[in-house]
Amino acid sequence: MSEVQAMRPTPTDGPDPAPAVRVQGVSKRYGDRQAVDDVSLDIHRGEFFGLLGPNGAGKSTLVEIMEGLRQADSGSVALFGEPPWPRNTALLPRIGVQTQSSAFFVRQTAHEHLRTVAALYGVARAAVDATLESVGLTGQRDIQVESLSGGQRQRLAIASALVHGPELIFLDEPTAALDPQARRALWEVLRALKAEGRTIVYTTHHLDEAEALCDRIAILVDGKVAVTDSPHNLVGASEAPSRLMLPLGRLDEQQAAAISGVDRVTVQGGSLVLETRTAGQVLSAVDQLTGLDGVQTRTASLEDVYLDLTARLTSAPQSPLRTADTTEHQP
Ligand code: ADP
Ligand code: MG
Repeated sequence: MSEVQAMRPTPTDGPDPAPAVRVQGVSKRYGDRQAVDDVSLDIHRGEFFGLLGPNGAGKSTLVEIMEGLRQADSGSVALFGEPPWPRNTALLPRIGVQTQSSAFFVRQTAHEHLRTVAALYGVARAAVDATLESVGLTGQRDIQVESLSGGQRQRLAIASALVHGPELIFLDEPTAALDPQARRALWEVLRALKAEGRTIVYTTHHLDEAEALCDRIAILVDGKVAVTDSPHNLVGASEAPSRLMLPLGRLDEQQAAAISGVDRVTVQGGSLVLETRTAGQVLSAVDQLTGLDGVQTRTASLEDVYLDLTARLTSAPQSPLRTADTTEHQP
């Protein structure tokens, strides 16, 4: 990614530069659906900021309002201190946008498409090749856009958001159609962009991704920001239990449930799973009963925090992964 457009020097905004994004009291309603409900947040320059939340939570609507593609009913947005709406041509070179439904010049090849996008920004042609390379599309450069696979098209959409070297990059579920290798490859591209000082606003359903990439995340539920913090702090503050996985046959469920500190016992995927908030105590009890050979532990992850929070704030059912194929024993 080092070959793409160098980052434009940030204009000096005085000693206390405006944040990359400032959202204040933004609301948006479609008919009787309150898609975004009084959202306020700041995204700092150089920050990798994740926006998470269930389908329909309002992520795309909020991002499109930030991008200046949609008008809020009320509230205000400023990018580097300037409003993106109505269409602000001074901001356009500074921001890169990949929307959930990207438009393409379908009769062009991947390379022609990106060249056309680059030309709109007056960008040197070398940046086109470098950007295609960075998203792993060099081998597809001469393929018509309409013949690209879903994942390849997704990568072209990402390239289109990056080719002009923007300071502030909005990516709305960029990894949704990507296979695991392409997903990890994109992580590396994004880490390089962050290392160059760019600001990234990112929506995803992959909690591992948010944990691996984001400095801070906001979880949106029913159009409202439920929580904003670093993944580290969210996991640290969570009440989500740790899990000890024992090979089956070591302890029966009653024995496991009788261990002091065990909250719940299930059988999942060939393991006896003990949920606990006092992992040390339970581990030492298990050690005395059967030894720790083959015992695995799993501490709370961002996914646990997310599922816990969204389950509490919505009436949506818990993830089926939590309950399928398990026998439960409540001690
Ligand atoms: P997310 O990106 O979190 O899945 P969206 O912002 O796409 O959520 O949608 C939020 C809510 O607003 C949903 O209930 C969706 O159906 C509704 N919505 C989004 N766009 C429109 C639109 N153009 N017209 C009417 N309703 C919309
Ligand atoms: Mg969306």
